This record gives sequence, C-alpha cells and structure tokens, in this order.
Amino acid sequence: MTEMNHYKADLRELEFALFEQFELGKLLKTNAFKHIGEEDARLILKEGYTFATSVVGPTMVSADRTGCVIDKGLAKAPPELREVWKKYYADGWNMLTQPESNGGQGAPQLLGVAVTEMMSGANTGFHMYPGLAMGAAAVIRAFGTPAQTELYATRLEKGDWGGTMVLTEPQAGSDVGLSTTKAVSRGDGNYSITGSKIFISGGDHDLAANIVHLVLARIEGAPKGTRGLSLFIVPKMRVNPDGSLGPSNDVVCTKLEHKLGINASATAALSFGESGQCIGQLVGGEPSKGAEPGEGMRKMFLMMNGARIGVGVQGLGVASSAYFNALAYARTRLQGAHPTKGRGDKGAVPIIAHADVRRMLMEMKCLVEGCRALIYSAVRMLDDAHALRADRKAKEADELEEYMGLFIPLVKAFTTDTAVHVASLAMQVYGGHGYLKDHPVEQYLRDARIFPIYEGTNGIQALDLVGRKLGQGGGKLIGRFGQEWGAFAAAMKERKGWQAEAATLGKALAALNTVVGKYLEFFTTGKADVVLGSATRFLEVLAKVTIARHLADAAFKAEAQLAKVSADSQDAQFYAGKIASARYFLRNILPAAVTLAEIIATGDSTAVDAPDGGFSLAF
Ligand SMILES: Cc1cc2nc3c(=O)[nH]c(=O)nc-3n(C[C@H](O)[C@H](O)[C@H](O)COP(=O)(O)OP(=O)(O)OC[C@H]3O[C@@H](n4cnc5c(N)ncnc54)[C@H](O)[C@@H]3O)c2cc1C
Repeated sequence: MTEMNHYKADLRELEFALFEQFELGKLLKTNAFKHIGEEDARLILKEGYTFATSVVGPTMVSADRTGCVIDKGLAKAPPELREVWKKYYADGWNMLTQPESNGGQGAPQLLGVAVTEMMSGANTGFHMYPGLAMGAAAVIRAFGTPAQTELYATRLEKGDWGGTMVLTEPQAGSDVGLSTTKAVSRGDGNYSITGSKIFISGGDHDLAANIVHLVLARIEGAPKGTRGLSLFIVPKMRVNPDGSLGPSNDVVCTKLEHKLGINASATAALSFGESGQCIGQLVGGEPSKGAEPGEGMRKMFLMMNGARIGVGVQGLGVASSAYFNALAYARTRLQGAHPTKGRGDKGAVPIIAHADVRRMLMEMKCLVEGCRALIYSAVRMLDDAHALRADRKAKEADELEEYMGLFIPLVKAFTTDTAVHVASLAMQVYGGHGYLKDHPVEQYLRDARIFPIYEGTNGIQALDLVGRKLGQGGGKLIGRFGQEWGAFAAAMKERKGWQAEAATLGKALAALNTVVGKYLEFFTTGKADVVLGSATRFLEVLAKVTIARHLADAAFKAEAQLAKVSADSQDAQFYAGKIASARYFLRNILPAAVTLAEIIATGDSTAVDAPDGGFSLAF
C-alpha cells in the first residue's frame, strides 16, 4: 500500500546551488565532464525530482508503518519497496556518477549529490539500501581482484544483489578494534568466518536475491585492535564462479531491531558461521597473491568517507523537506491576530504572519541552505580533484582531496545535528498537529535522530577533527582554511551594506584561530582532556564559520542577479530570500559561534574534573 507523497523540494533552490553558486556549468566544460551538457544536467535534476516525488516519496509513510519483519524465518522489507528498488535500478539512478568505463553516466558528484538529496529526503529508509550496495561495490572495485569485481561489484551495481558494511558487534561499537569476529584460513584461499554482528543496515531483506556483506574480522593470530582487522566478502548465499547462486552461506539473521525511525530500513543482527559453514574471501584475494591482511580499516574507510557524506546528505534531504512542509503548513494554518494589522477577513491570520513563526522558518531556511552549501562545496572539491586528474595534475588533485577531508566531520556531524534541530523546529511550527502521525514531520524527527549516531557518532567525528584533521600535515588543512576564509572576509569588508556581517566573520575567524593555538598549548601541556571535552563545540564553530562564508557568497551572487531582474518578478523574491538567509545567519547565528569559540579558549575543564560521584551517587 502506498500513500501520498510528502517530499517537498524547491528545484529553483537546487538549480541556484548547482549552477549559480557552485558553477556546475563550468565544471561540465572540463575534460573530465564535457560529455555531459548543461541542459542534460538540468534535465537529470528535473527527472530526479519527478522520481523522488512520484516513485520514492509515496512509500515513505506506509513503509515506516509496515516496517521490516521476519516472516517464517525470512527477513522482509516493506513490500512496496520492491517496485521502487526495481525502478530505481532500471532507471539507472545508482549509476549517475559512476565512471562511463563501468557503465555509468560519469556525471559530477555535485549533480549526484543533488539527486541523492531528493531520493534520500523522499524516503530515507529506502534509500539506504542502494546507497550501501553502491558503497560495497565501490570498495570491491577499489581493492578487490578483477574476479571479485566481475562477480560481486557488477551485480551490486545492477541491483541484482544488496550490500552492507558490517563492523559493529555488541562489545565493539565506536571501538571497532574490540571486534572478535574470527577468520580462519581454509587453506584454499578462502576463510571460515565466525562471529556475531549487530545493527547491520540492509543486513537481511528480500529486495534482492543475495546480499554481499563486507565484514571486518580478525584472521587467527592477527594483532589486537584495529590494525589486526581484515575485510572479507561474505555473501548471504554462496556464489558459483558463473555468478549463479549456491546454497546458504550460514549467515543467519537472528533479529531485526525495533527502532525509533528509519523503519523501512532493515537493521539486522547477523550470526556468521553458527554451523561452521560460513565462507568469506579476503577483499583483494589471498595473501599469497599479494592481498594484505590487516588492511581492513583502510579499505573500509573508502566506504566510510563516502558513507559519512551520504549520512550528511540524508540529514540535508530530511531537513529540507521538513522545512518546506512546515512552510506550506504555516501559509494555511489560521491562528491569532497580527500585532498591527489585526485578524483580517478570515477571522485569524495564517501563522506565517507571526514574528515567532517567521523566526523559526528563517532559522530552518538558512540552516538548510547553509548545510547544502557545506556539502555541495565539499563534493565540488571531489569533482575538481577528478577534473585535475583528468588533466594529469595528480599532485594538485591529491592536495585538494586531502583538504576536503577537513570538511568530512562537519558534513557528517553538523548537518545531522542540524537535521534533528530543523525537524524539531518543523514540528514546533505545526504545533500539536505536528506531534501526530497525520503529518510527516514526526517521522522526519524520528528518522533524523539516528543520523548523529551511526557512521561514527558525532562525538567521534569531533575527535577525528581535533585529533587528526587539525594537526594533519603540520596544520596545513586548517591553515589553508584560514587563508581562504580570511581572504573572503577581507574582501567582504569592502562590500557596501555588509560591513557589520564582515566584522562578525572576521571576529569568528580570529576566535577560531585563538582556539587552534590554545588547542596546541593544551595538547602539549598535558591537558588533552580539555581539547577532547570541547571538540564537539569546536566542530560546531568551524561548521558555522564555514557556512557563513558560503551563505554570504550566495547572497553576493543573488545581489548581482537581483540588479538584473524586474522588481516584481518571482526571481526577485527568490534572490531576496537568499540575501535574507545570509543576513539572518551572520546576524543571529554566527555571533553565538564567536562566543562559543571564546568559551572554548578559556579551557574550562569542569565536566572533566568533576568527581564521578558528583554526577549523582544514585546511579
Ligand atoms: C539504526 C542503526 C543502523 C546502523 N547501521 C550500521 C551498519 O550498517 N553497520 C555497522 O557496522 N554498524 C551500524 N550501526 C552501528 C552504529 O554505527 C553504532 O551504533 C555507532 O557506531 C555507535 O556505537 P555504539 O552504539 O556501540 O555506541 P558506543 O560506542 O557505546 O558509544 C556510546 C556513547 O559514547 C561515546 N563514545 C564512545 N567512545 C568514545 C570515545 N573514545 N570518546 C568519546 N566518546 C566516546 C559515543 O560518542 C556515544 O555517545 C547502526 C546503528 C543503528 C542504531
């Protein structure tokens, strides 16, 4: 059973982000992407919208209510997803950004991310299945043998089989190094896998004939910790050399979790090798043929980086649709009187007339647009790196990709925390009606809540930022950031009408710089705990400073266009909205980030120093 579509996107906004702000048109003229014309890209965007709103979106509510079940020992996804899965692959949405050499369209990631935003926003639980399958295919293509690529990656890409990433165990969550799943060589190049994994997205379902699990396991005798982990291909059903399916591979789904949200996505507890019959292959083949055991985390990281951006995009898609639904509701819900214009001829005004509702809507708008810019700018760097490589500028490409790594924790953590906040604000705009299942916003809030948790909790993202990315290459990533953002702020100071906002951005950059210096001091004076204790806040400050520049940049582009369009046109309102987003963010949100940076720099260690019993002796 499918219902009405609730997914809302504004194509004008997406076109602005792609073509006016991040200059997709220019990218499409580079050697790497010149096979796709600008008109093609606009058409793909529109078709993506049509698919998201007419095929994916109508399943969001019903799949949430049906959920995933184990029926007579078989794990089943909500039945309406079967048709969506088939159409999604038949229309080639999963292949949009894959290289032409693999049968893909070779489109820029920038275009791909806009389409993914829509698919994910339309039914985020559904979109996880193809997203994970494509992630698994990418790892096999990058590190597998040609035979593994032929046997597994191509079938994952066709949608014949599903795919997963299998790390978590009951005792090994954030600390993946505690994993105990074992791999024992069978002497024929294969391994016997035994162990229990939990929380595996897409871990068992009936959307595809087989599921290719990428499993982290420890080869007998390998060292403890993450460096002893290797990555294995472990299919649910054994696979014959011609790709036909053999018998069950002794991978048993022992449970599907009952969860707060993303109920369309099967979250499975999996038992590998209970009967001693589970066989896996090392990704890359046998050690005797050059495959390196103990390289599991490095290989998994390829999937994880993509997955971290993917989770950020999930957050963006859901937050954006939550905003537009709240906006539409605010235009029709009649309550109260306007403070100066009274009740009007309908007896009450639409709630969008109330200043406090406008505050919530503007906060949602600028945060959604800011997160979009944060993500699209990062993805644009990947495309630029690809374009540089196509022009044989590998060194510059490597540098750009390394720099992009600075933004991954922001994309994953800030966007997903913001998604929860925006979904919550959307519910607030609906009032009590938003709390009911009659409207989609309660589902947005439930679905969004997992995003800050999985794929490395947001706390772990912050540790990655301060513990690894800040110091990387002697601080060159944050150094480059400071130069680029500093140059932008300096130019902004000269811009008429933006001096106050430019001053705030300048202050924020100075405060950020002070924190980075203080962090070095704390690290070198035995106060690492102070850094770790404020890492999440630091990530928030860095994300807000990053976004401030992108929103201001969007506003300047909008100002230039505003001068060219007629004052009563729709475009004039659209561009005025872009300017309002930037002003609101720089006037209302960025100043709080400056204060936060100042607090971090004080090195307060109250939470770290408090005695354990001081939190309460009762628990
Ligand atoms: C719906 C769902 C889908 C999932 N899908 C997958 C999947 O497909 N594949 C997969 O392998 N896993 C999956 N997971 C697991 C998910 O990635 C983990 O839940 C997550 O990594 C956190 O591990 P944990 O739940 O054991 O929490 P813990 O690691 O116990 O963390 C609890 C808290 O402690 C904090 N913490 C832990 N260690 C540190 C530290 N060193 N410093 C500071 N703070 C710390 C965390 O940030 C968190 O706030 C999924 C989980 C869910 C709920």
